[in-house]
Amino acid sequence: MTAAPSPTSATSAPASPTPAPASPMPAADHRMARIDLAAAFRWVARLNMHESVANHLSVAVSADGSQFLINPRVRHFARMSACDLLLLDANDPATLDRPDAPDPTAWHLHARLHARLPEARCVMHLHPKHATALACLQDPTMYPIDMNTMRFFGRVAVDSDFSGMALSDGEGDRVAGMMGGGKSVLLMANHGVLVIGATVAEAFDEMYYFERAAETLLTCYASGKALRIVPDTVAAVTERQWRGYGQLAVDHLANIKAILDAEEPAYRG
Ligand SMILES: [Zn+2]
Repeated sequence: MTAAPSPTSATSAPASPTPAPASPMPAADHRMARIDLAAAFRWVARLNMHESVANHLSVAVSADGSQFLINPRVRHFARMSACDLLLLDANDPATLDRPDAPDPTAWHLHARLHARLPEARCVMHLHPKHATALACLQDPTMYPIDMNTMRFFGRVAVDSDFSGMALSDGEGDRVAGMMGGGKSVLLMANHGVLVIGATVAEAFDEMYYFERAAETLLTCYASGKALRIVPDTVAAVTERQWRGYGQLAVDHLANIKAILDAEEPAYRG
């Protein structure tokens, strides 16, 4: 199924005393999920966490996770709009035969993750600079050295078996088997990072803080000085405290959308 047509920009429409027309994208087309994910794409680009026109973010729109939205092939994240997102069915074996087929690696990873982990409502896979550098170290442990690194205490699974690009459902199943059970981050050795979340806001916030945490850890390594690693008990308490700040992720994305509404409202189109 292709995306809905782009609406007329609100900023270019003349003032009218009549009520605004209903959204050009009906609820069945998952308008809010599209807008949230489009905002995440644009902000990933602003943070320079994107890579060329690759990488992929998706969000499930059916209860069982089989229906999901994902970015089309070779569209830069900075240009992504709500209507661009593809609506795919994880159970449709003909997906890669579509004229608008997604990137094969995106399909194999995200379809299997959504199909096997319904709780992973949003899946984000990127190659951001610091997380990817951490994934390329012999020891990629996210040591608990500050509040951001402590957020990920016990949350990170490490996939040490890079064997090329994910071009089969088997690879997607293998990755899905490493997630869940309290693991929200998969650090993919020699590759990049993948996060899952219950919402777009939650997954984006997790990705944002993981990249920040990796940056801090690598900056400490670059100093050549010894790390000041806190005891596991302290790291565990801090990780639990982070979970009490779930509203932070909601507010984070809401503020991003407010900035985009003012500066590049076409992302909602
Ligand atoms: Zn990748």
